[in-house]
Amino acid sequence: MTQQVITRFPPSPTGLMHIGNIRSLLFNYLYARKHNGEIVMRFEDTDRERSKQEYADLMLKDLEILGLTYDQGPFYQSQKTDRYTAVIKQLIDEGFAYEAEESNDGSGKVIRFKNPNTEVTVIDCVRGEITIDTTDFGDFVIARSVDNPLYHLTVVVDDIDGGITHVIRGEDHITSTPRQILLIQALGAQVPVYAHLPLIVGDDKKKLGKRHGAVNLSQFLEMGYLPEAVVNQLALLGWNPGDEREIFSLEELVQEFSLARIQKGAATFSYQKLDDINKQHMLRLSEANYKEHAIEFLSDDTRNRFNADKRLFDKVTSSILVERLNKFSDVTQMDRDREFEYLFEKPGIDENLMSFKDEGFDTARKNLAMAADKLEQVSEDQWTIENIKEVLWDWSGEIGRGSVLHPMRTVMTGMQRSPDPFTVAYVLGKKETLVRLRISNENE
Ligand code: GLU
Repeated sequence: MTQQVITRFPPSPTGLMHIGNIRSLLFNYLYARKHNGEIVMRFEDTDRERSKQEYADLMLKDLEILGLTYDQGPFYQSQKTDRYTAVIKQLIDEGFAYEAEESNDGSGKVIRFKNPNTEVTVIDCVRGEITIDTTDFGDFVIARSVDNPLYHLTVVVDDIDGGITHVIRGEDHITSTPRQILLIQALGAQVPVYAHLPLIVGDDKKKLGKRHGAVNLSQFLEMGYLPEAVVNQLALLGWNPGDEREIFSLEELVQEFSLARIQKGAATFSYQKLDDINKQHMLRLSEANYKEHAIEFLSDDTRNRFNADKRLFDKVTSSILVERLNKFSDVTQMDRDREFEYLFEKPGIDENLMSFKDEGFDTARKNLAMAADKLEQVSEDQWTIENIKEVLWDWSGEIGRGSVLHPMRTVMTGMQRSPDPFTVAYVLGKKETLVRLRISNENE
């Protein structure tokens, strides 16, 4: 019978969870779920000064938002001191550790591990077997005192107690691994399988940090990225499905995941890529869900206006937003740039803006009148982007497309840049479109 897979979520609650940590947790999640295993949630909070309950709570919330469930815990190392003390005493009794002066100035005693100065072989799923001579580590410190254990000791005790079979963590922990293996061997326990995940870097190939942009989940959510898109992007940081596919739900990732497809080389986090992935996940949302998210990111004023005309927001969503938005906060920017203004208020006539190249306003006005006559033929219930385009396309081609479409677009929107005139006409509706195109009697 094969052994039950058990992995772990072991964050240190000393700040907000960095997406690099989340990536580690995600890979533990994917591996455990793929193999019908279990996940142990434990907080490594032995750093009493820096660890805070509020950070632990926020981390649990992050996991919930992302859908990263666990099966045991959450446990807190700070509540296991007695167990660590017993292990430290056992190591001392058995001659594997000893109490020693911390430094030559006699400032205090610490507990050191008696290094057997042997070679240890780490079996790493990403890098293969790595054999290391541990002599260089010396007799390393494992506790400040019998009741104040340090990181290597607590990790090892918890991994043993939890029956952890696979330790999947960032490459920055790789130097800890041989020390931890020495401790595991001293305690007569089974050494787990390791997978050290490649470093995450920014576009400049330097370790991903604040100066690259957002690094905490809450920042991404505030910008209107979907949790499932963040998960998808993180999964691709160091792993790939072996083909061109890029868009995966969490469940799909579980199906596809394997440790064998983790790369050694650094993984680049690209905000551009996240946008692309996020857009695809946005398009997987139901229309109702999409609109619910989008409307949240509008100013109160614009939201109220759309709430008063839900049909208008439906049209704007299906014909403009789904094309434009890579993340929901893009709608905030459009709102700030007053890109929705023309939907609610007819813009003033700007003769220069409406003139196509140097054709002048009179030509523009003449072409608009003809366009209005053409559009008059499309009935209200046939008023779709395709039908509007069909009526105008060949005819405008004869006159010169820009000579018709540019004045149309600008008279309806009052903007230098906007969606194409067919889309704008569709969104405004037949009646309002004709009112805006028929300017002959205005300004006279
Ligand atoms: N508590 C460590 C961290 O948050 C994880 C240690 C481990 O995975 O062994 O980086």
